[in-house]
Amino acid sequence: MKIPKAKKRYCPYCKKHTVHKVALAKKKKPRSMTYGSKVRAKRRGVARGAGNMGRYSKPAISKFKMTGKKTSKKVDLRFECKDCKKQHVQNKGFRSRRAEFK
Ligand SMILES: [Zn+2]
Repeated sequence: MKIPKAKKRYCPYCKKHTVHKVALAKKKKPRSMTYGSKVRAKRRGVARGAGNMGRYSKPAISKFKMTGKKTSKKVDLRFECKDCKKQHVQNKGFRSRRAEFK
């Protein structure tokens, strides 16, 4: 799906409609210290011992059969106001296989 590069949109900071630069949100780097991570368990000293080493007994939900069946993803758009340079997120996402700017 094609998305316009600039769009007129309401800016809550300027309190009026201004031209906004549209951009896709950047992919976030995976965190190494998330709850189920091995690094975190090692640092807490619970990654030692027998058996499951205090980890989960079921595989991650992303390993389930039915997960990831959808072929499209919700696009995460960011709007940057040209007047005050502040960024806003879209209030409602839509599904699209591929998003590109026209
Ligand atoms: Zn603004």
